[in-house]
Amino acid sequence: MLEIKHTLCPSCSVGCGINVVLNDGEIVGTFPYKRHPVNAGKNCSNGRNSIDCYQNKFESAVVSKSETDVEKAIADVSKELSSADASSVTVICSGNNSLEEIEAIKDFAESKNYNIAFYADDLKDFDAVASYDDVEGASNVFVIGDLLYENPLIGRRIVHAKQNGAKIYALSKVDKSVTLNIADESSNGSVQEFLDNNNANIDESSVIVFNYVDAQEDLDKIEAAGCKVLPVFSKSNTKGALKIVDPKSEAEIIEVLNNTKLLLVFNDDVVEDIDFDFGKISKIISFAECENETTKISDIIIPIKTWLEKDGSFVNAMGENQAFKAVVESDALSEIEIIGKLN
Ligand code: SF4
Repeated sequence: MLEIKHTLCPSCSVGCGINVVLNDGEIVGTFPYKRHPVNAGKNCSNGRNSIDCYQNKFESAVVSKSETDVEKAIADVSKELSSADASSVTVICSGNNSLEEIEAIKDFAESKNYNIAFYADDLKDFDAVASYDDVEGASNVFVIGDLLYENPLIGRRIVHAKQNGAKIYALSKVDKSVTLNIADESSNGSVQEFLDNNNANIDESSVIVFNYVDAQEDLDKIEAAGCKVLPVFSKSNTKGALKIVDPKSEAEIIEVLNNTKLLLVFNDDVVEDIDFDFGKISKIISFAECENETTKISDIIIPIKTWLEKDGSFVNAMGENQAFKAVVESDALSEIEIIGKLN
């Protein structure tokens, strides 16, 4: 029997609704969620492919490249932790986790005096941000990054703004940027130059939408621009994580990693995000849904419930708290359950 269940896309911070199609209880595909207020029936290819991780999920734990029983692998992690110097243990938290999981990861790290590192794309949490409707209704939209390609359902709002008469100013360093195709004015220099050159065109009804900056000073400049702003993160719950854990810049994370002997990675691909020689770390333990660059070099992998198998909540880029429910049942442990066993 075919069934359709509503959930959220886990693949970026836009917070699109997505339908999951089940046949006799087995997930077989995704389908646009027509009435969802964020994306109104559209999903990008990343969203449509977001079930791939579920379909390729780890079914057992891996220790030293050999599959093993999950409970035994968790006991191995406990042993590693009990013999480690807390100051050389680092916990990587991630915007891939739900609010509830981030609280648990933070409490765990703090109670053991471990370092905690969380990367928010070198962006930050602004007190007030533009809504997606603000983007559509803006007179001028300043776009930093190839949002039409990387966050297409925000990109769609930028296209609507243009159709509504807005002028689009775009900065992208990407060759063949999709966003530049719709821009009235294009740039490929630094964020500082882009903001300085367009200063006179930014007014109260403008919106700056961005998914990267070159330096922390750019964030101050964006904040002082005198218009609404919308940072868009690469992970579904980075905005929520920012309310719980202080972020670190890439340089600060590298500093922490340089003093790390035991690295615990909670549902993140830190190897993909941070340019560091991870071979310098004695032991890497990943709590992961499916294979990524970090699990490939991990000494221990503990499988965790995927987002389709658990309840939770994410905060999307415009600050809305979005709850989601498990779409399928699972015997896998959640990160919260695993942390309970490590305590
Ligand atoms: S724009 Fe982001 S949240 Fe929306 S479907 Fe694409 S990846 Fe998912």
